[in-house]
Amino acid sequence: MSIFRQLGVEPIINACGTVTRLGGAPMPTPVLDAFAQAAAESVPLERLQAAASRQIANVTGADAGLVTCGAAAALTLGTAAILARHNLARIEKLPCTDGFPNEMIIAREQRSGYDHSVRAAGATLVEVGFNEIIANAGVRRTEVWEYEAAITHQTAGIVYVHAHDSCPGLSEIVAMAHEHDLPVLVDAAGELPPRSNLKDIPTTGTDLVCFSGGKAIHGPQSTGILCGRRDLVSSAALQMLDMDDHLELWDPPDELFDPSRVTGIPRHGIGRGLKVSKEQIVALLTALDLFASGEFDRQLIEYRRILNTVADGLSTAKANCRMLEPLTQDRWPLLEITVDSAALGRSAMEVCRALRGGSPPVYVGHAGLHEGRLQINPVCLTAAVETELTRRLLEELS
Ligand SMILES: *Cc1c(COP(=O)(O)O)cnc(C)c1O
Repeated sequence: MSIFRQLGVEPIINACGTVTRLGGAPMPTPVLDAFAQAAAESVPLERLQAAASRQIANVTGADAGLVTCGAAAALTLGTAAILARHNLARIEKLPCTDGFPNEMIIAREQRSGYDHSVRAAGATLVEVGFNEIIANAGVRRTEVWEYEAAITHQTAGIVYVHAHDSCPGLSEIVAMAHEHDLPVLVDAAGELPPRSNLKDIPTTGTDLVCFSGGKAIHGPQSTGILCGRRDLVSSAALQMLDMDDHLELWDPPDELFDPSRVTGIPRHGIGRGLKVSKEQIVALLTALDLFASGEFDRQLIEYRRILNTVADGLSTAKANCRMLEPLTQDRWPLLEITVDSAALGRSAMEVCRALRGGSPPVYVGHAGLHEGRLQINPVCLTAAVETELTRRLLEELS
């Protein structure tokens, strides 16, 4: 019996993707094995994070890296690093920032619920630019001069949310920020694949980058990566790790810590609540290696086969299926199902609700519901569920 059913929780068919609400990505066997092995022994976490730093640096081209408990946590830790650096008094004070620069500049069009993680460290967001295209009131995106005009003595850095069509380009923002001696923190949580982004984003010269470990990397759901400048990653590590030790005994690994930078040991920092376990770290590193080596590309053919099977099974449904091809070769397609609401007598929203309420519950991609579209993302699907999935879709679309 399903371990979830024993708890009275009904497992679902996840056709929505690696979303957090539905438990992230499936972990491959080597990742689960690594998790189990790591659970059997103890290690000092700062040593393990130093090893993680070496491996992340190797894969990303960044100077250093830290395994965090998600990209959202990486945003909080990255911001805390930018605000407090190695100043023990500031580390102690966060999220209170009285008396030191705390403004992070962000394009208005890049704001989202995830920037709460930046604010949580104590930063105040200063918005620049407009959202004219969405407002249907203009043709221009945010421009570099707008960021530059917002810089004051209170500015601590810039937050930049990476998308394939982010504008202005990251390297332009980095060049401008560095002229003003300001760091750039990049949210690239969902920007993998393409696999090339793993190196391309950190090697723009940006100061810090956040990736999710529980999305396409297929690591534990509550893992992420913060990588970039060694001094900033080091500050983030100091603010996350357990600091209950004696200064006389503290022997931190030099890849991650430079004791000459601090005059003592900070107490537990703002990141103490964002701890990540040794099992999670080891499992994430295993997944990262598999992802970086292209191991997951083998699944692309199977993903496409599943989507084609579902589409074939819906040939009589009151809906139209269309394959949405990916932007890059190492990404998977999505199956878009446009509901013929007039013929069916139900909206896409109602179909989506009925799918969730049925047996087994089916969760589909819901970004296009208001335009009458459901999406099938194959990443969390297997051949074992394709028949059930097709049957439930056909039932609700007939
Ligand atoms: C998923 C996501 C996050 C959060 O990532 P977690 O690893 O779930 O914490 C942050 N920003 C963006 C843009 C995301 O898509």
